[in-house]
Amino acid sequence: MKMLPTVIANLFSKAATRNYPFDVRAPFEHARGELINDVERCIFCGSCQRKCPSQCITVSKEDNMGTWSLEFFACIGCGICVGACPVNCLSQLTTHRPVATVRSVITHTAKLPEKPAKKTEKRTEPARNEPAQ
Ligand code: SF4
Ligand code: SF4
Repeated sequence: MKMLPTVIANLFSKAATRNYPFDVRAPFEHARGELINDVERCIFCGSCQRKCPSQCITVSKEDNMGTWSLEFFACIGCGICVGACPVNCLSQLTTHRPVATVRSVITHTAKLPEKPAKKTEKRTEPARNEPAQ
């Protein structure tokens, strides 16, 4: 009987939660929403894949081409991959992807960046009578 006033109050009070997806919260600054990869800058190092706690990123390289894919349903939007990317090509929008009923994986493919040419500088020994510089 002690709970009765609380039950009655809850019945007639406003819901504490939103009726998502019909009532969507307005985005706010620094909100961690949809993950975006500017794949033209991606070097396919795999750092994001290794750090992702949900294991939803897959990075692979083959024949001069790199592939980066993300399984959206598994992403929890933590932002760890964004901090782990050495070239800052990952970012998060302040909004979330629309609700979906079908599991989707986004895949980006791009050419791997050129490797810097190896230095082939030969060391020359100073002549016997020349003082070393
Ligand atoms: S950490 Fe950045 S550069 Fe490396 S594979 Fe991921 S998105 Fe690409
Ligand atoms: S935001 Fe978090 S869960 Fe989503 S891909 Fe990045 S590290 Fe993984």
